[in-house]
Amino acid sequence: TDKEAVCVGVRLRPFVAYEQGQQQCLTISDNVVQVDPSVAEQSAKAKVSEFAFDCAMDSTDPMAPSYVSQDKCYQLMAKRMVDHVLSGYFSCLFCYGQTGTGKTTTIMGKVEPVSEQGLLLRLMNDLFTEMNRLESEGSEVHCKVQMLEVYNEKVRDLLVPMNSKDGKDGKGRQHPEVHVHPKLGVYVKGVADEPVDSFENCVQLIEYGNTMKTVAATAMNAKSSRAHTIFKLMVEKRGGTDNTIVTSEAFFVDLAGRENEKTTKVSGERLVELTFINQSLMWLASCIQALAKPDSRKSMAPGAAATNLMSRFRNSKLTLLLSNALSGNSKTSMIGTLSPALANFEESYSTLTFASTVKNIKIKAKPASAVDK
Ligand code: ADP
Repeated sequence: TDKEAVCVGVRLRPFVAYEQGQQQCLTISDNVVQVDPSVAEQSAKAKVSEFAFDCAMDSTDPMAPSYVSQDKCYQLMAKRMVDHVLSGYFSCLFCYGQTGTGKTTTIMGKVEPVSEQGLLLRLMNDLFTEMNRLESEGSEVHCKVQMLEVYNEKVRDLLVPMNSKDGKDGKGRQHPEVHVHPKLGVYVKGVADEPVDSFENCVQLIEYGNTMKTVAATAMNAKSSRAHTIFKLMVEKRGGTDNTIVTSEAFFVDLAGRENEKTTKVSGERLVELTFINQSLMWLASCIQALAKPDSRKSMAPGAAATNLMSRFRNSKLTLLLSNALSGNSKTSMIGTLSPALANFEESYSTLTFASTVKNIKIKAKPASAVDK
């Protein structure tokens, strides 16, 4: 799959306690998701009964030979990002799906036991091993991170000073603003880049960010699942025979849970949240669909294509923040997370449809350091 700029996977989690006894509506074999025929028959929505992906991961039964553990999921979906990061590609991995289907488990998981670590922790672990090896060979590698949250189109720095217990920015700063620089691309003003020099150091920051996510959510009377969480990794490598500088950025995105506006009965503030979430996800889909149709860009003047793409990204903070990683010079992975239970079928079906749309993207990536800056 490494030749492809975009890798789309889905992951089916096990039944959880509150779903016990329900019918299993989805099964997986050979990277194909199959909708149970009896379910497909009864659903007005299900027009397709099979979905093929680059990678369809069955995590329903730990005893099954085909079981996809946290480590297996990493090998399949994220390990390649270690190379991308060190060879100057922009890369992006996002998890998409209904709340409660395993996005956080897949990206973060638990620090301990090690077997429960999610993709981000595994990537950081491998990255530091590789960075240490490169440094022992005389290269110089620097690594910085940001952890951001987008809630109701406002960006928040989750790595604000450790002493601000109330979750407010200790320096009294406004919400960070997203800016677009004509040459450097998108950057977020007012967010600190935190240097990290070891796996432990990085885990500390991630855990701190996760705490702040909860604190912020409580302060805003919101559930953390209503915000998009973005972990951004920036790497700079100097060295090699010709002493070149390679820079790269990688994003890990835990997208806010999409909910159906028609079936979810909400009003007031909840409705505002839901509208923002669904709109930003719609714009994300639209940006990805634009990338999926290279023909529509070919007919335009070179600059016009870029401008046209940029105007799409500006529709939401999420797409603007991710634009560097979705602009044709990147490697993108997406994991749609699914519940096997019948009660969640309609939402799972939407996730499968969305993931299939993403599957059509064909963008050709080249190392970021080869791009004029
Ligand atoms: P989300 O982030 O999408 O809201 P979570 O990651 O919090 O979902 O997962 C919801 C529930 O499902 C949790 O109880 C979690 O332990 C369980 N779960 C999710 N994915 C898996 C998995 N691959 N294996 C075992 N349990 C899982």
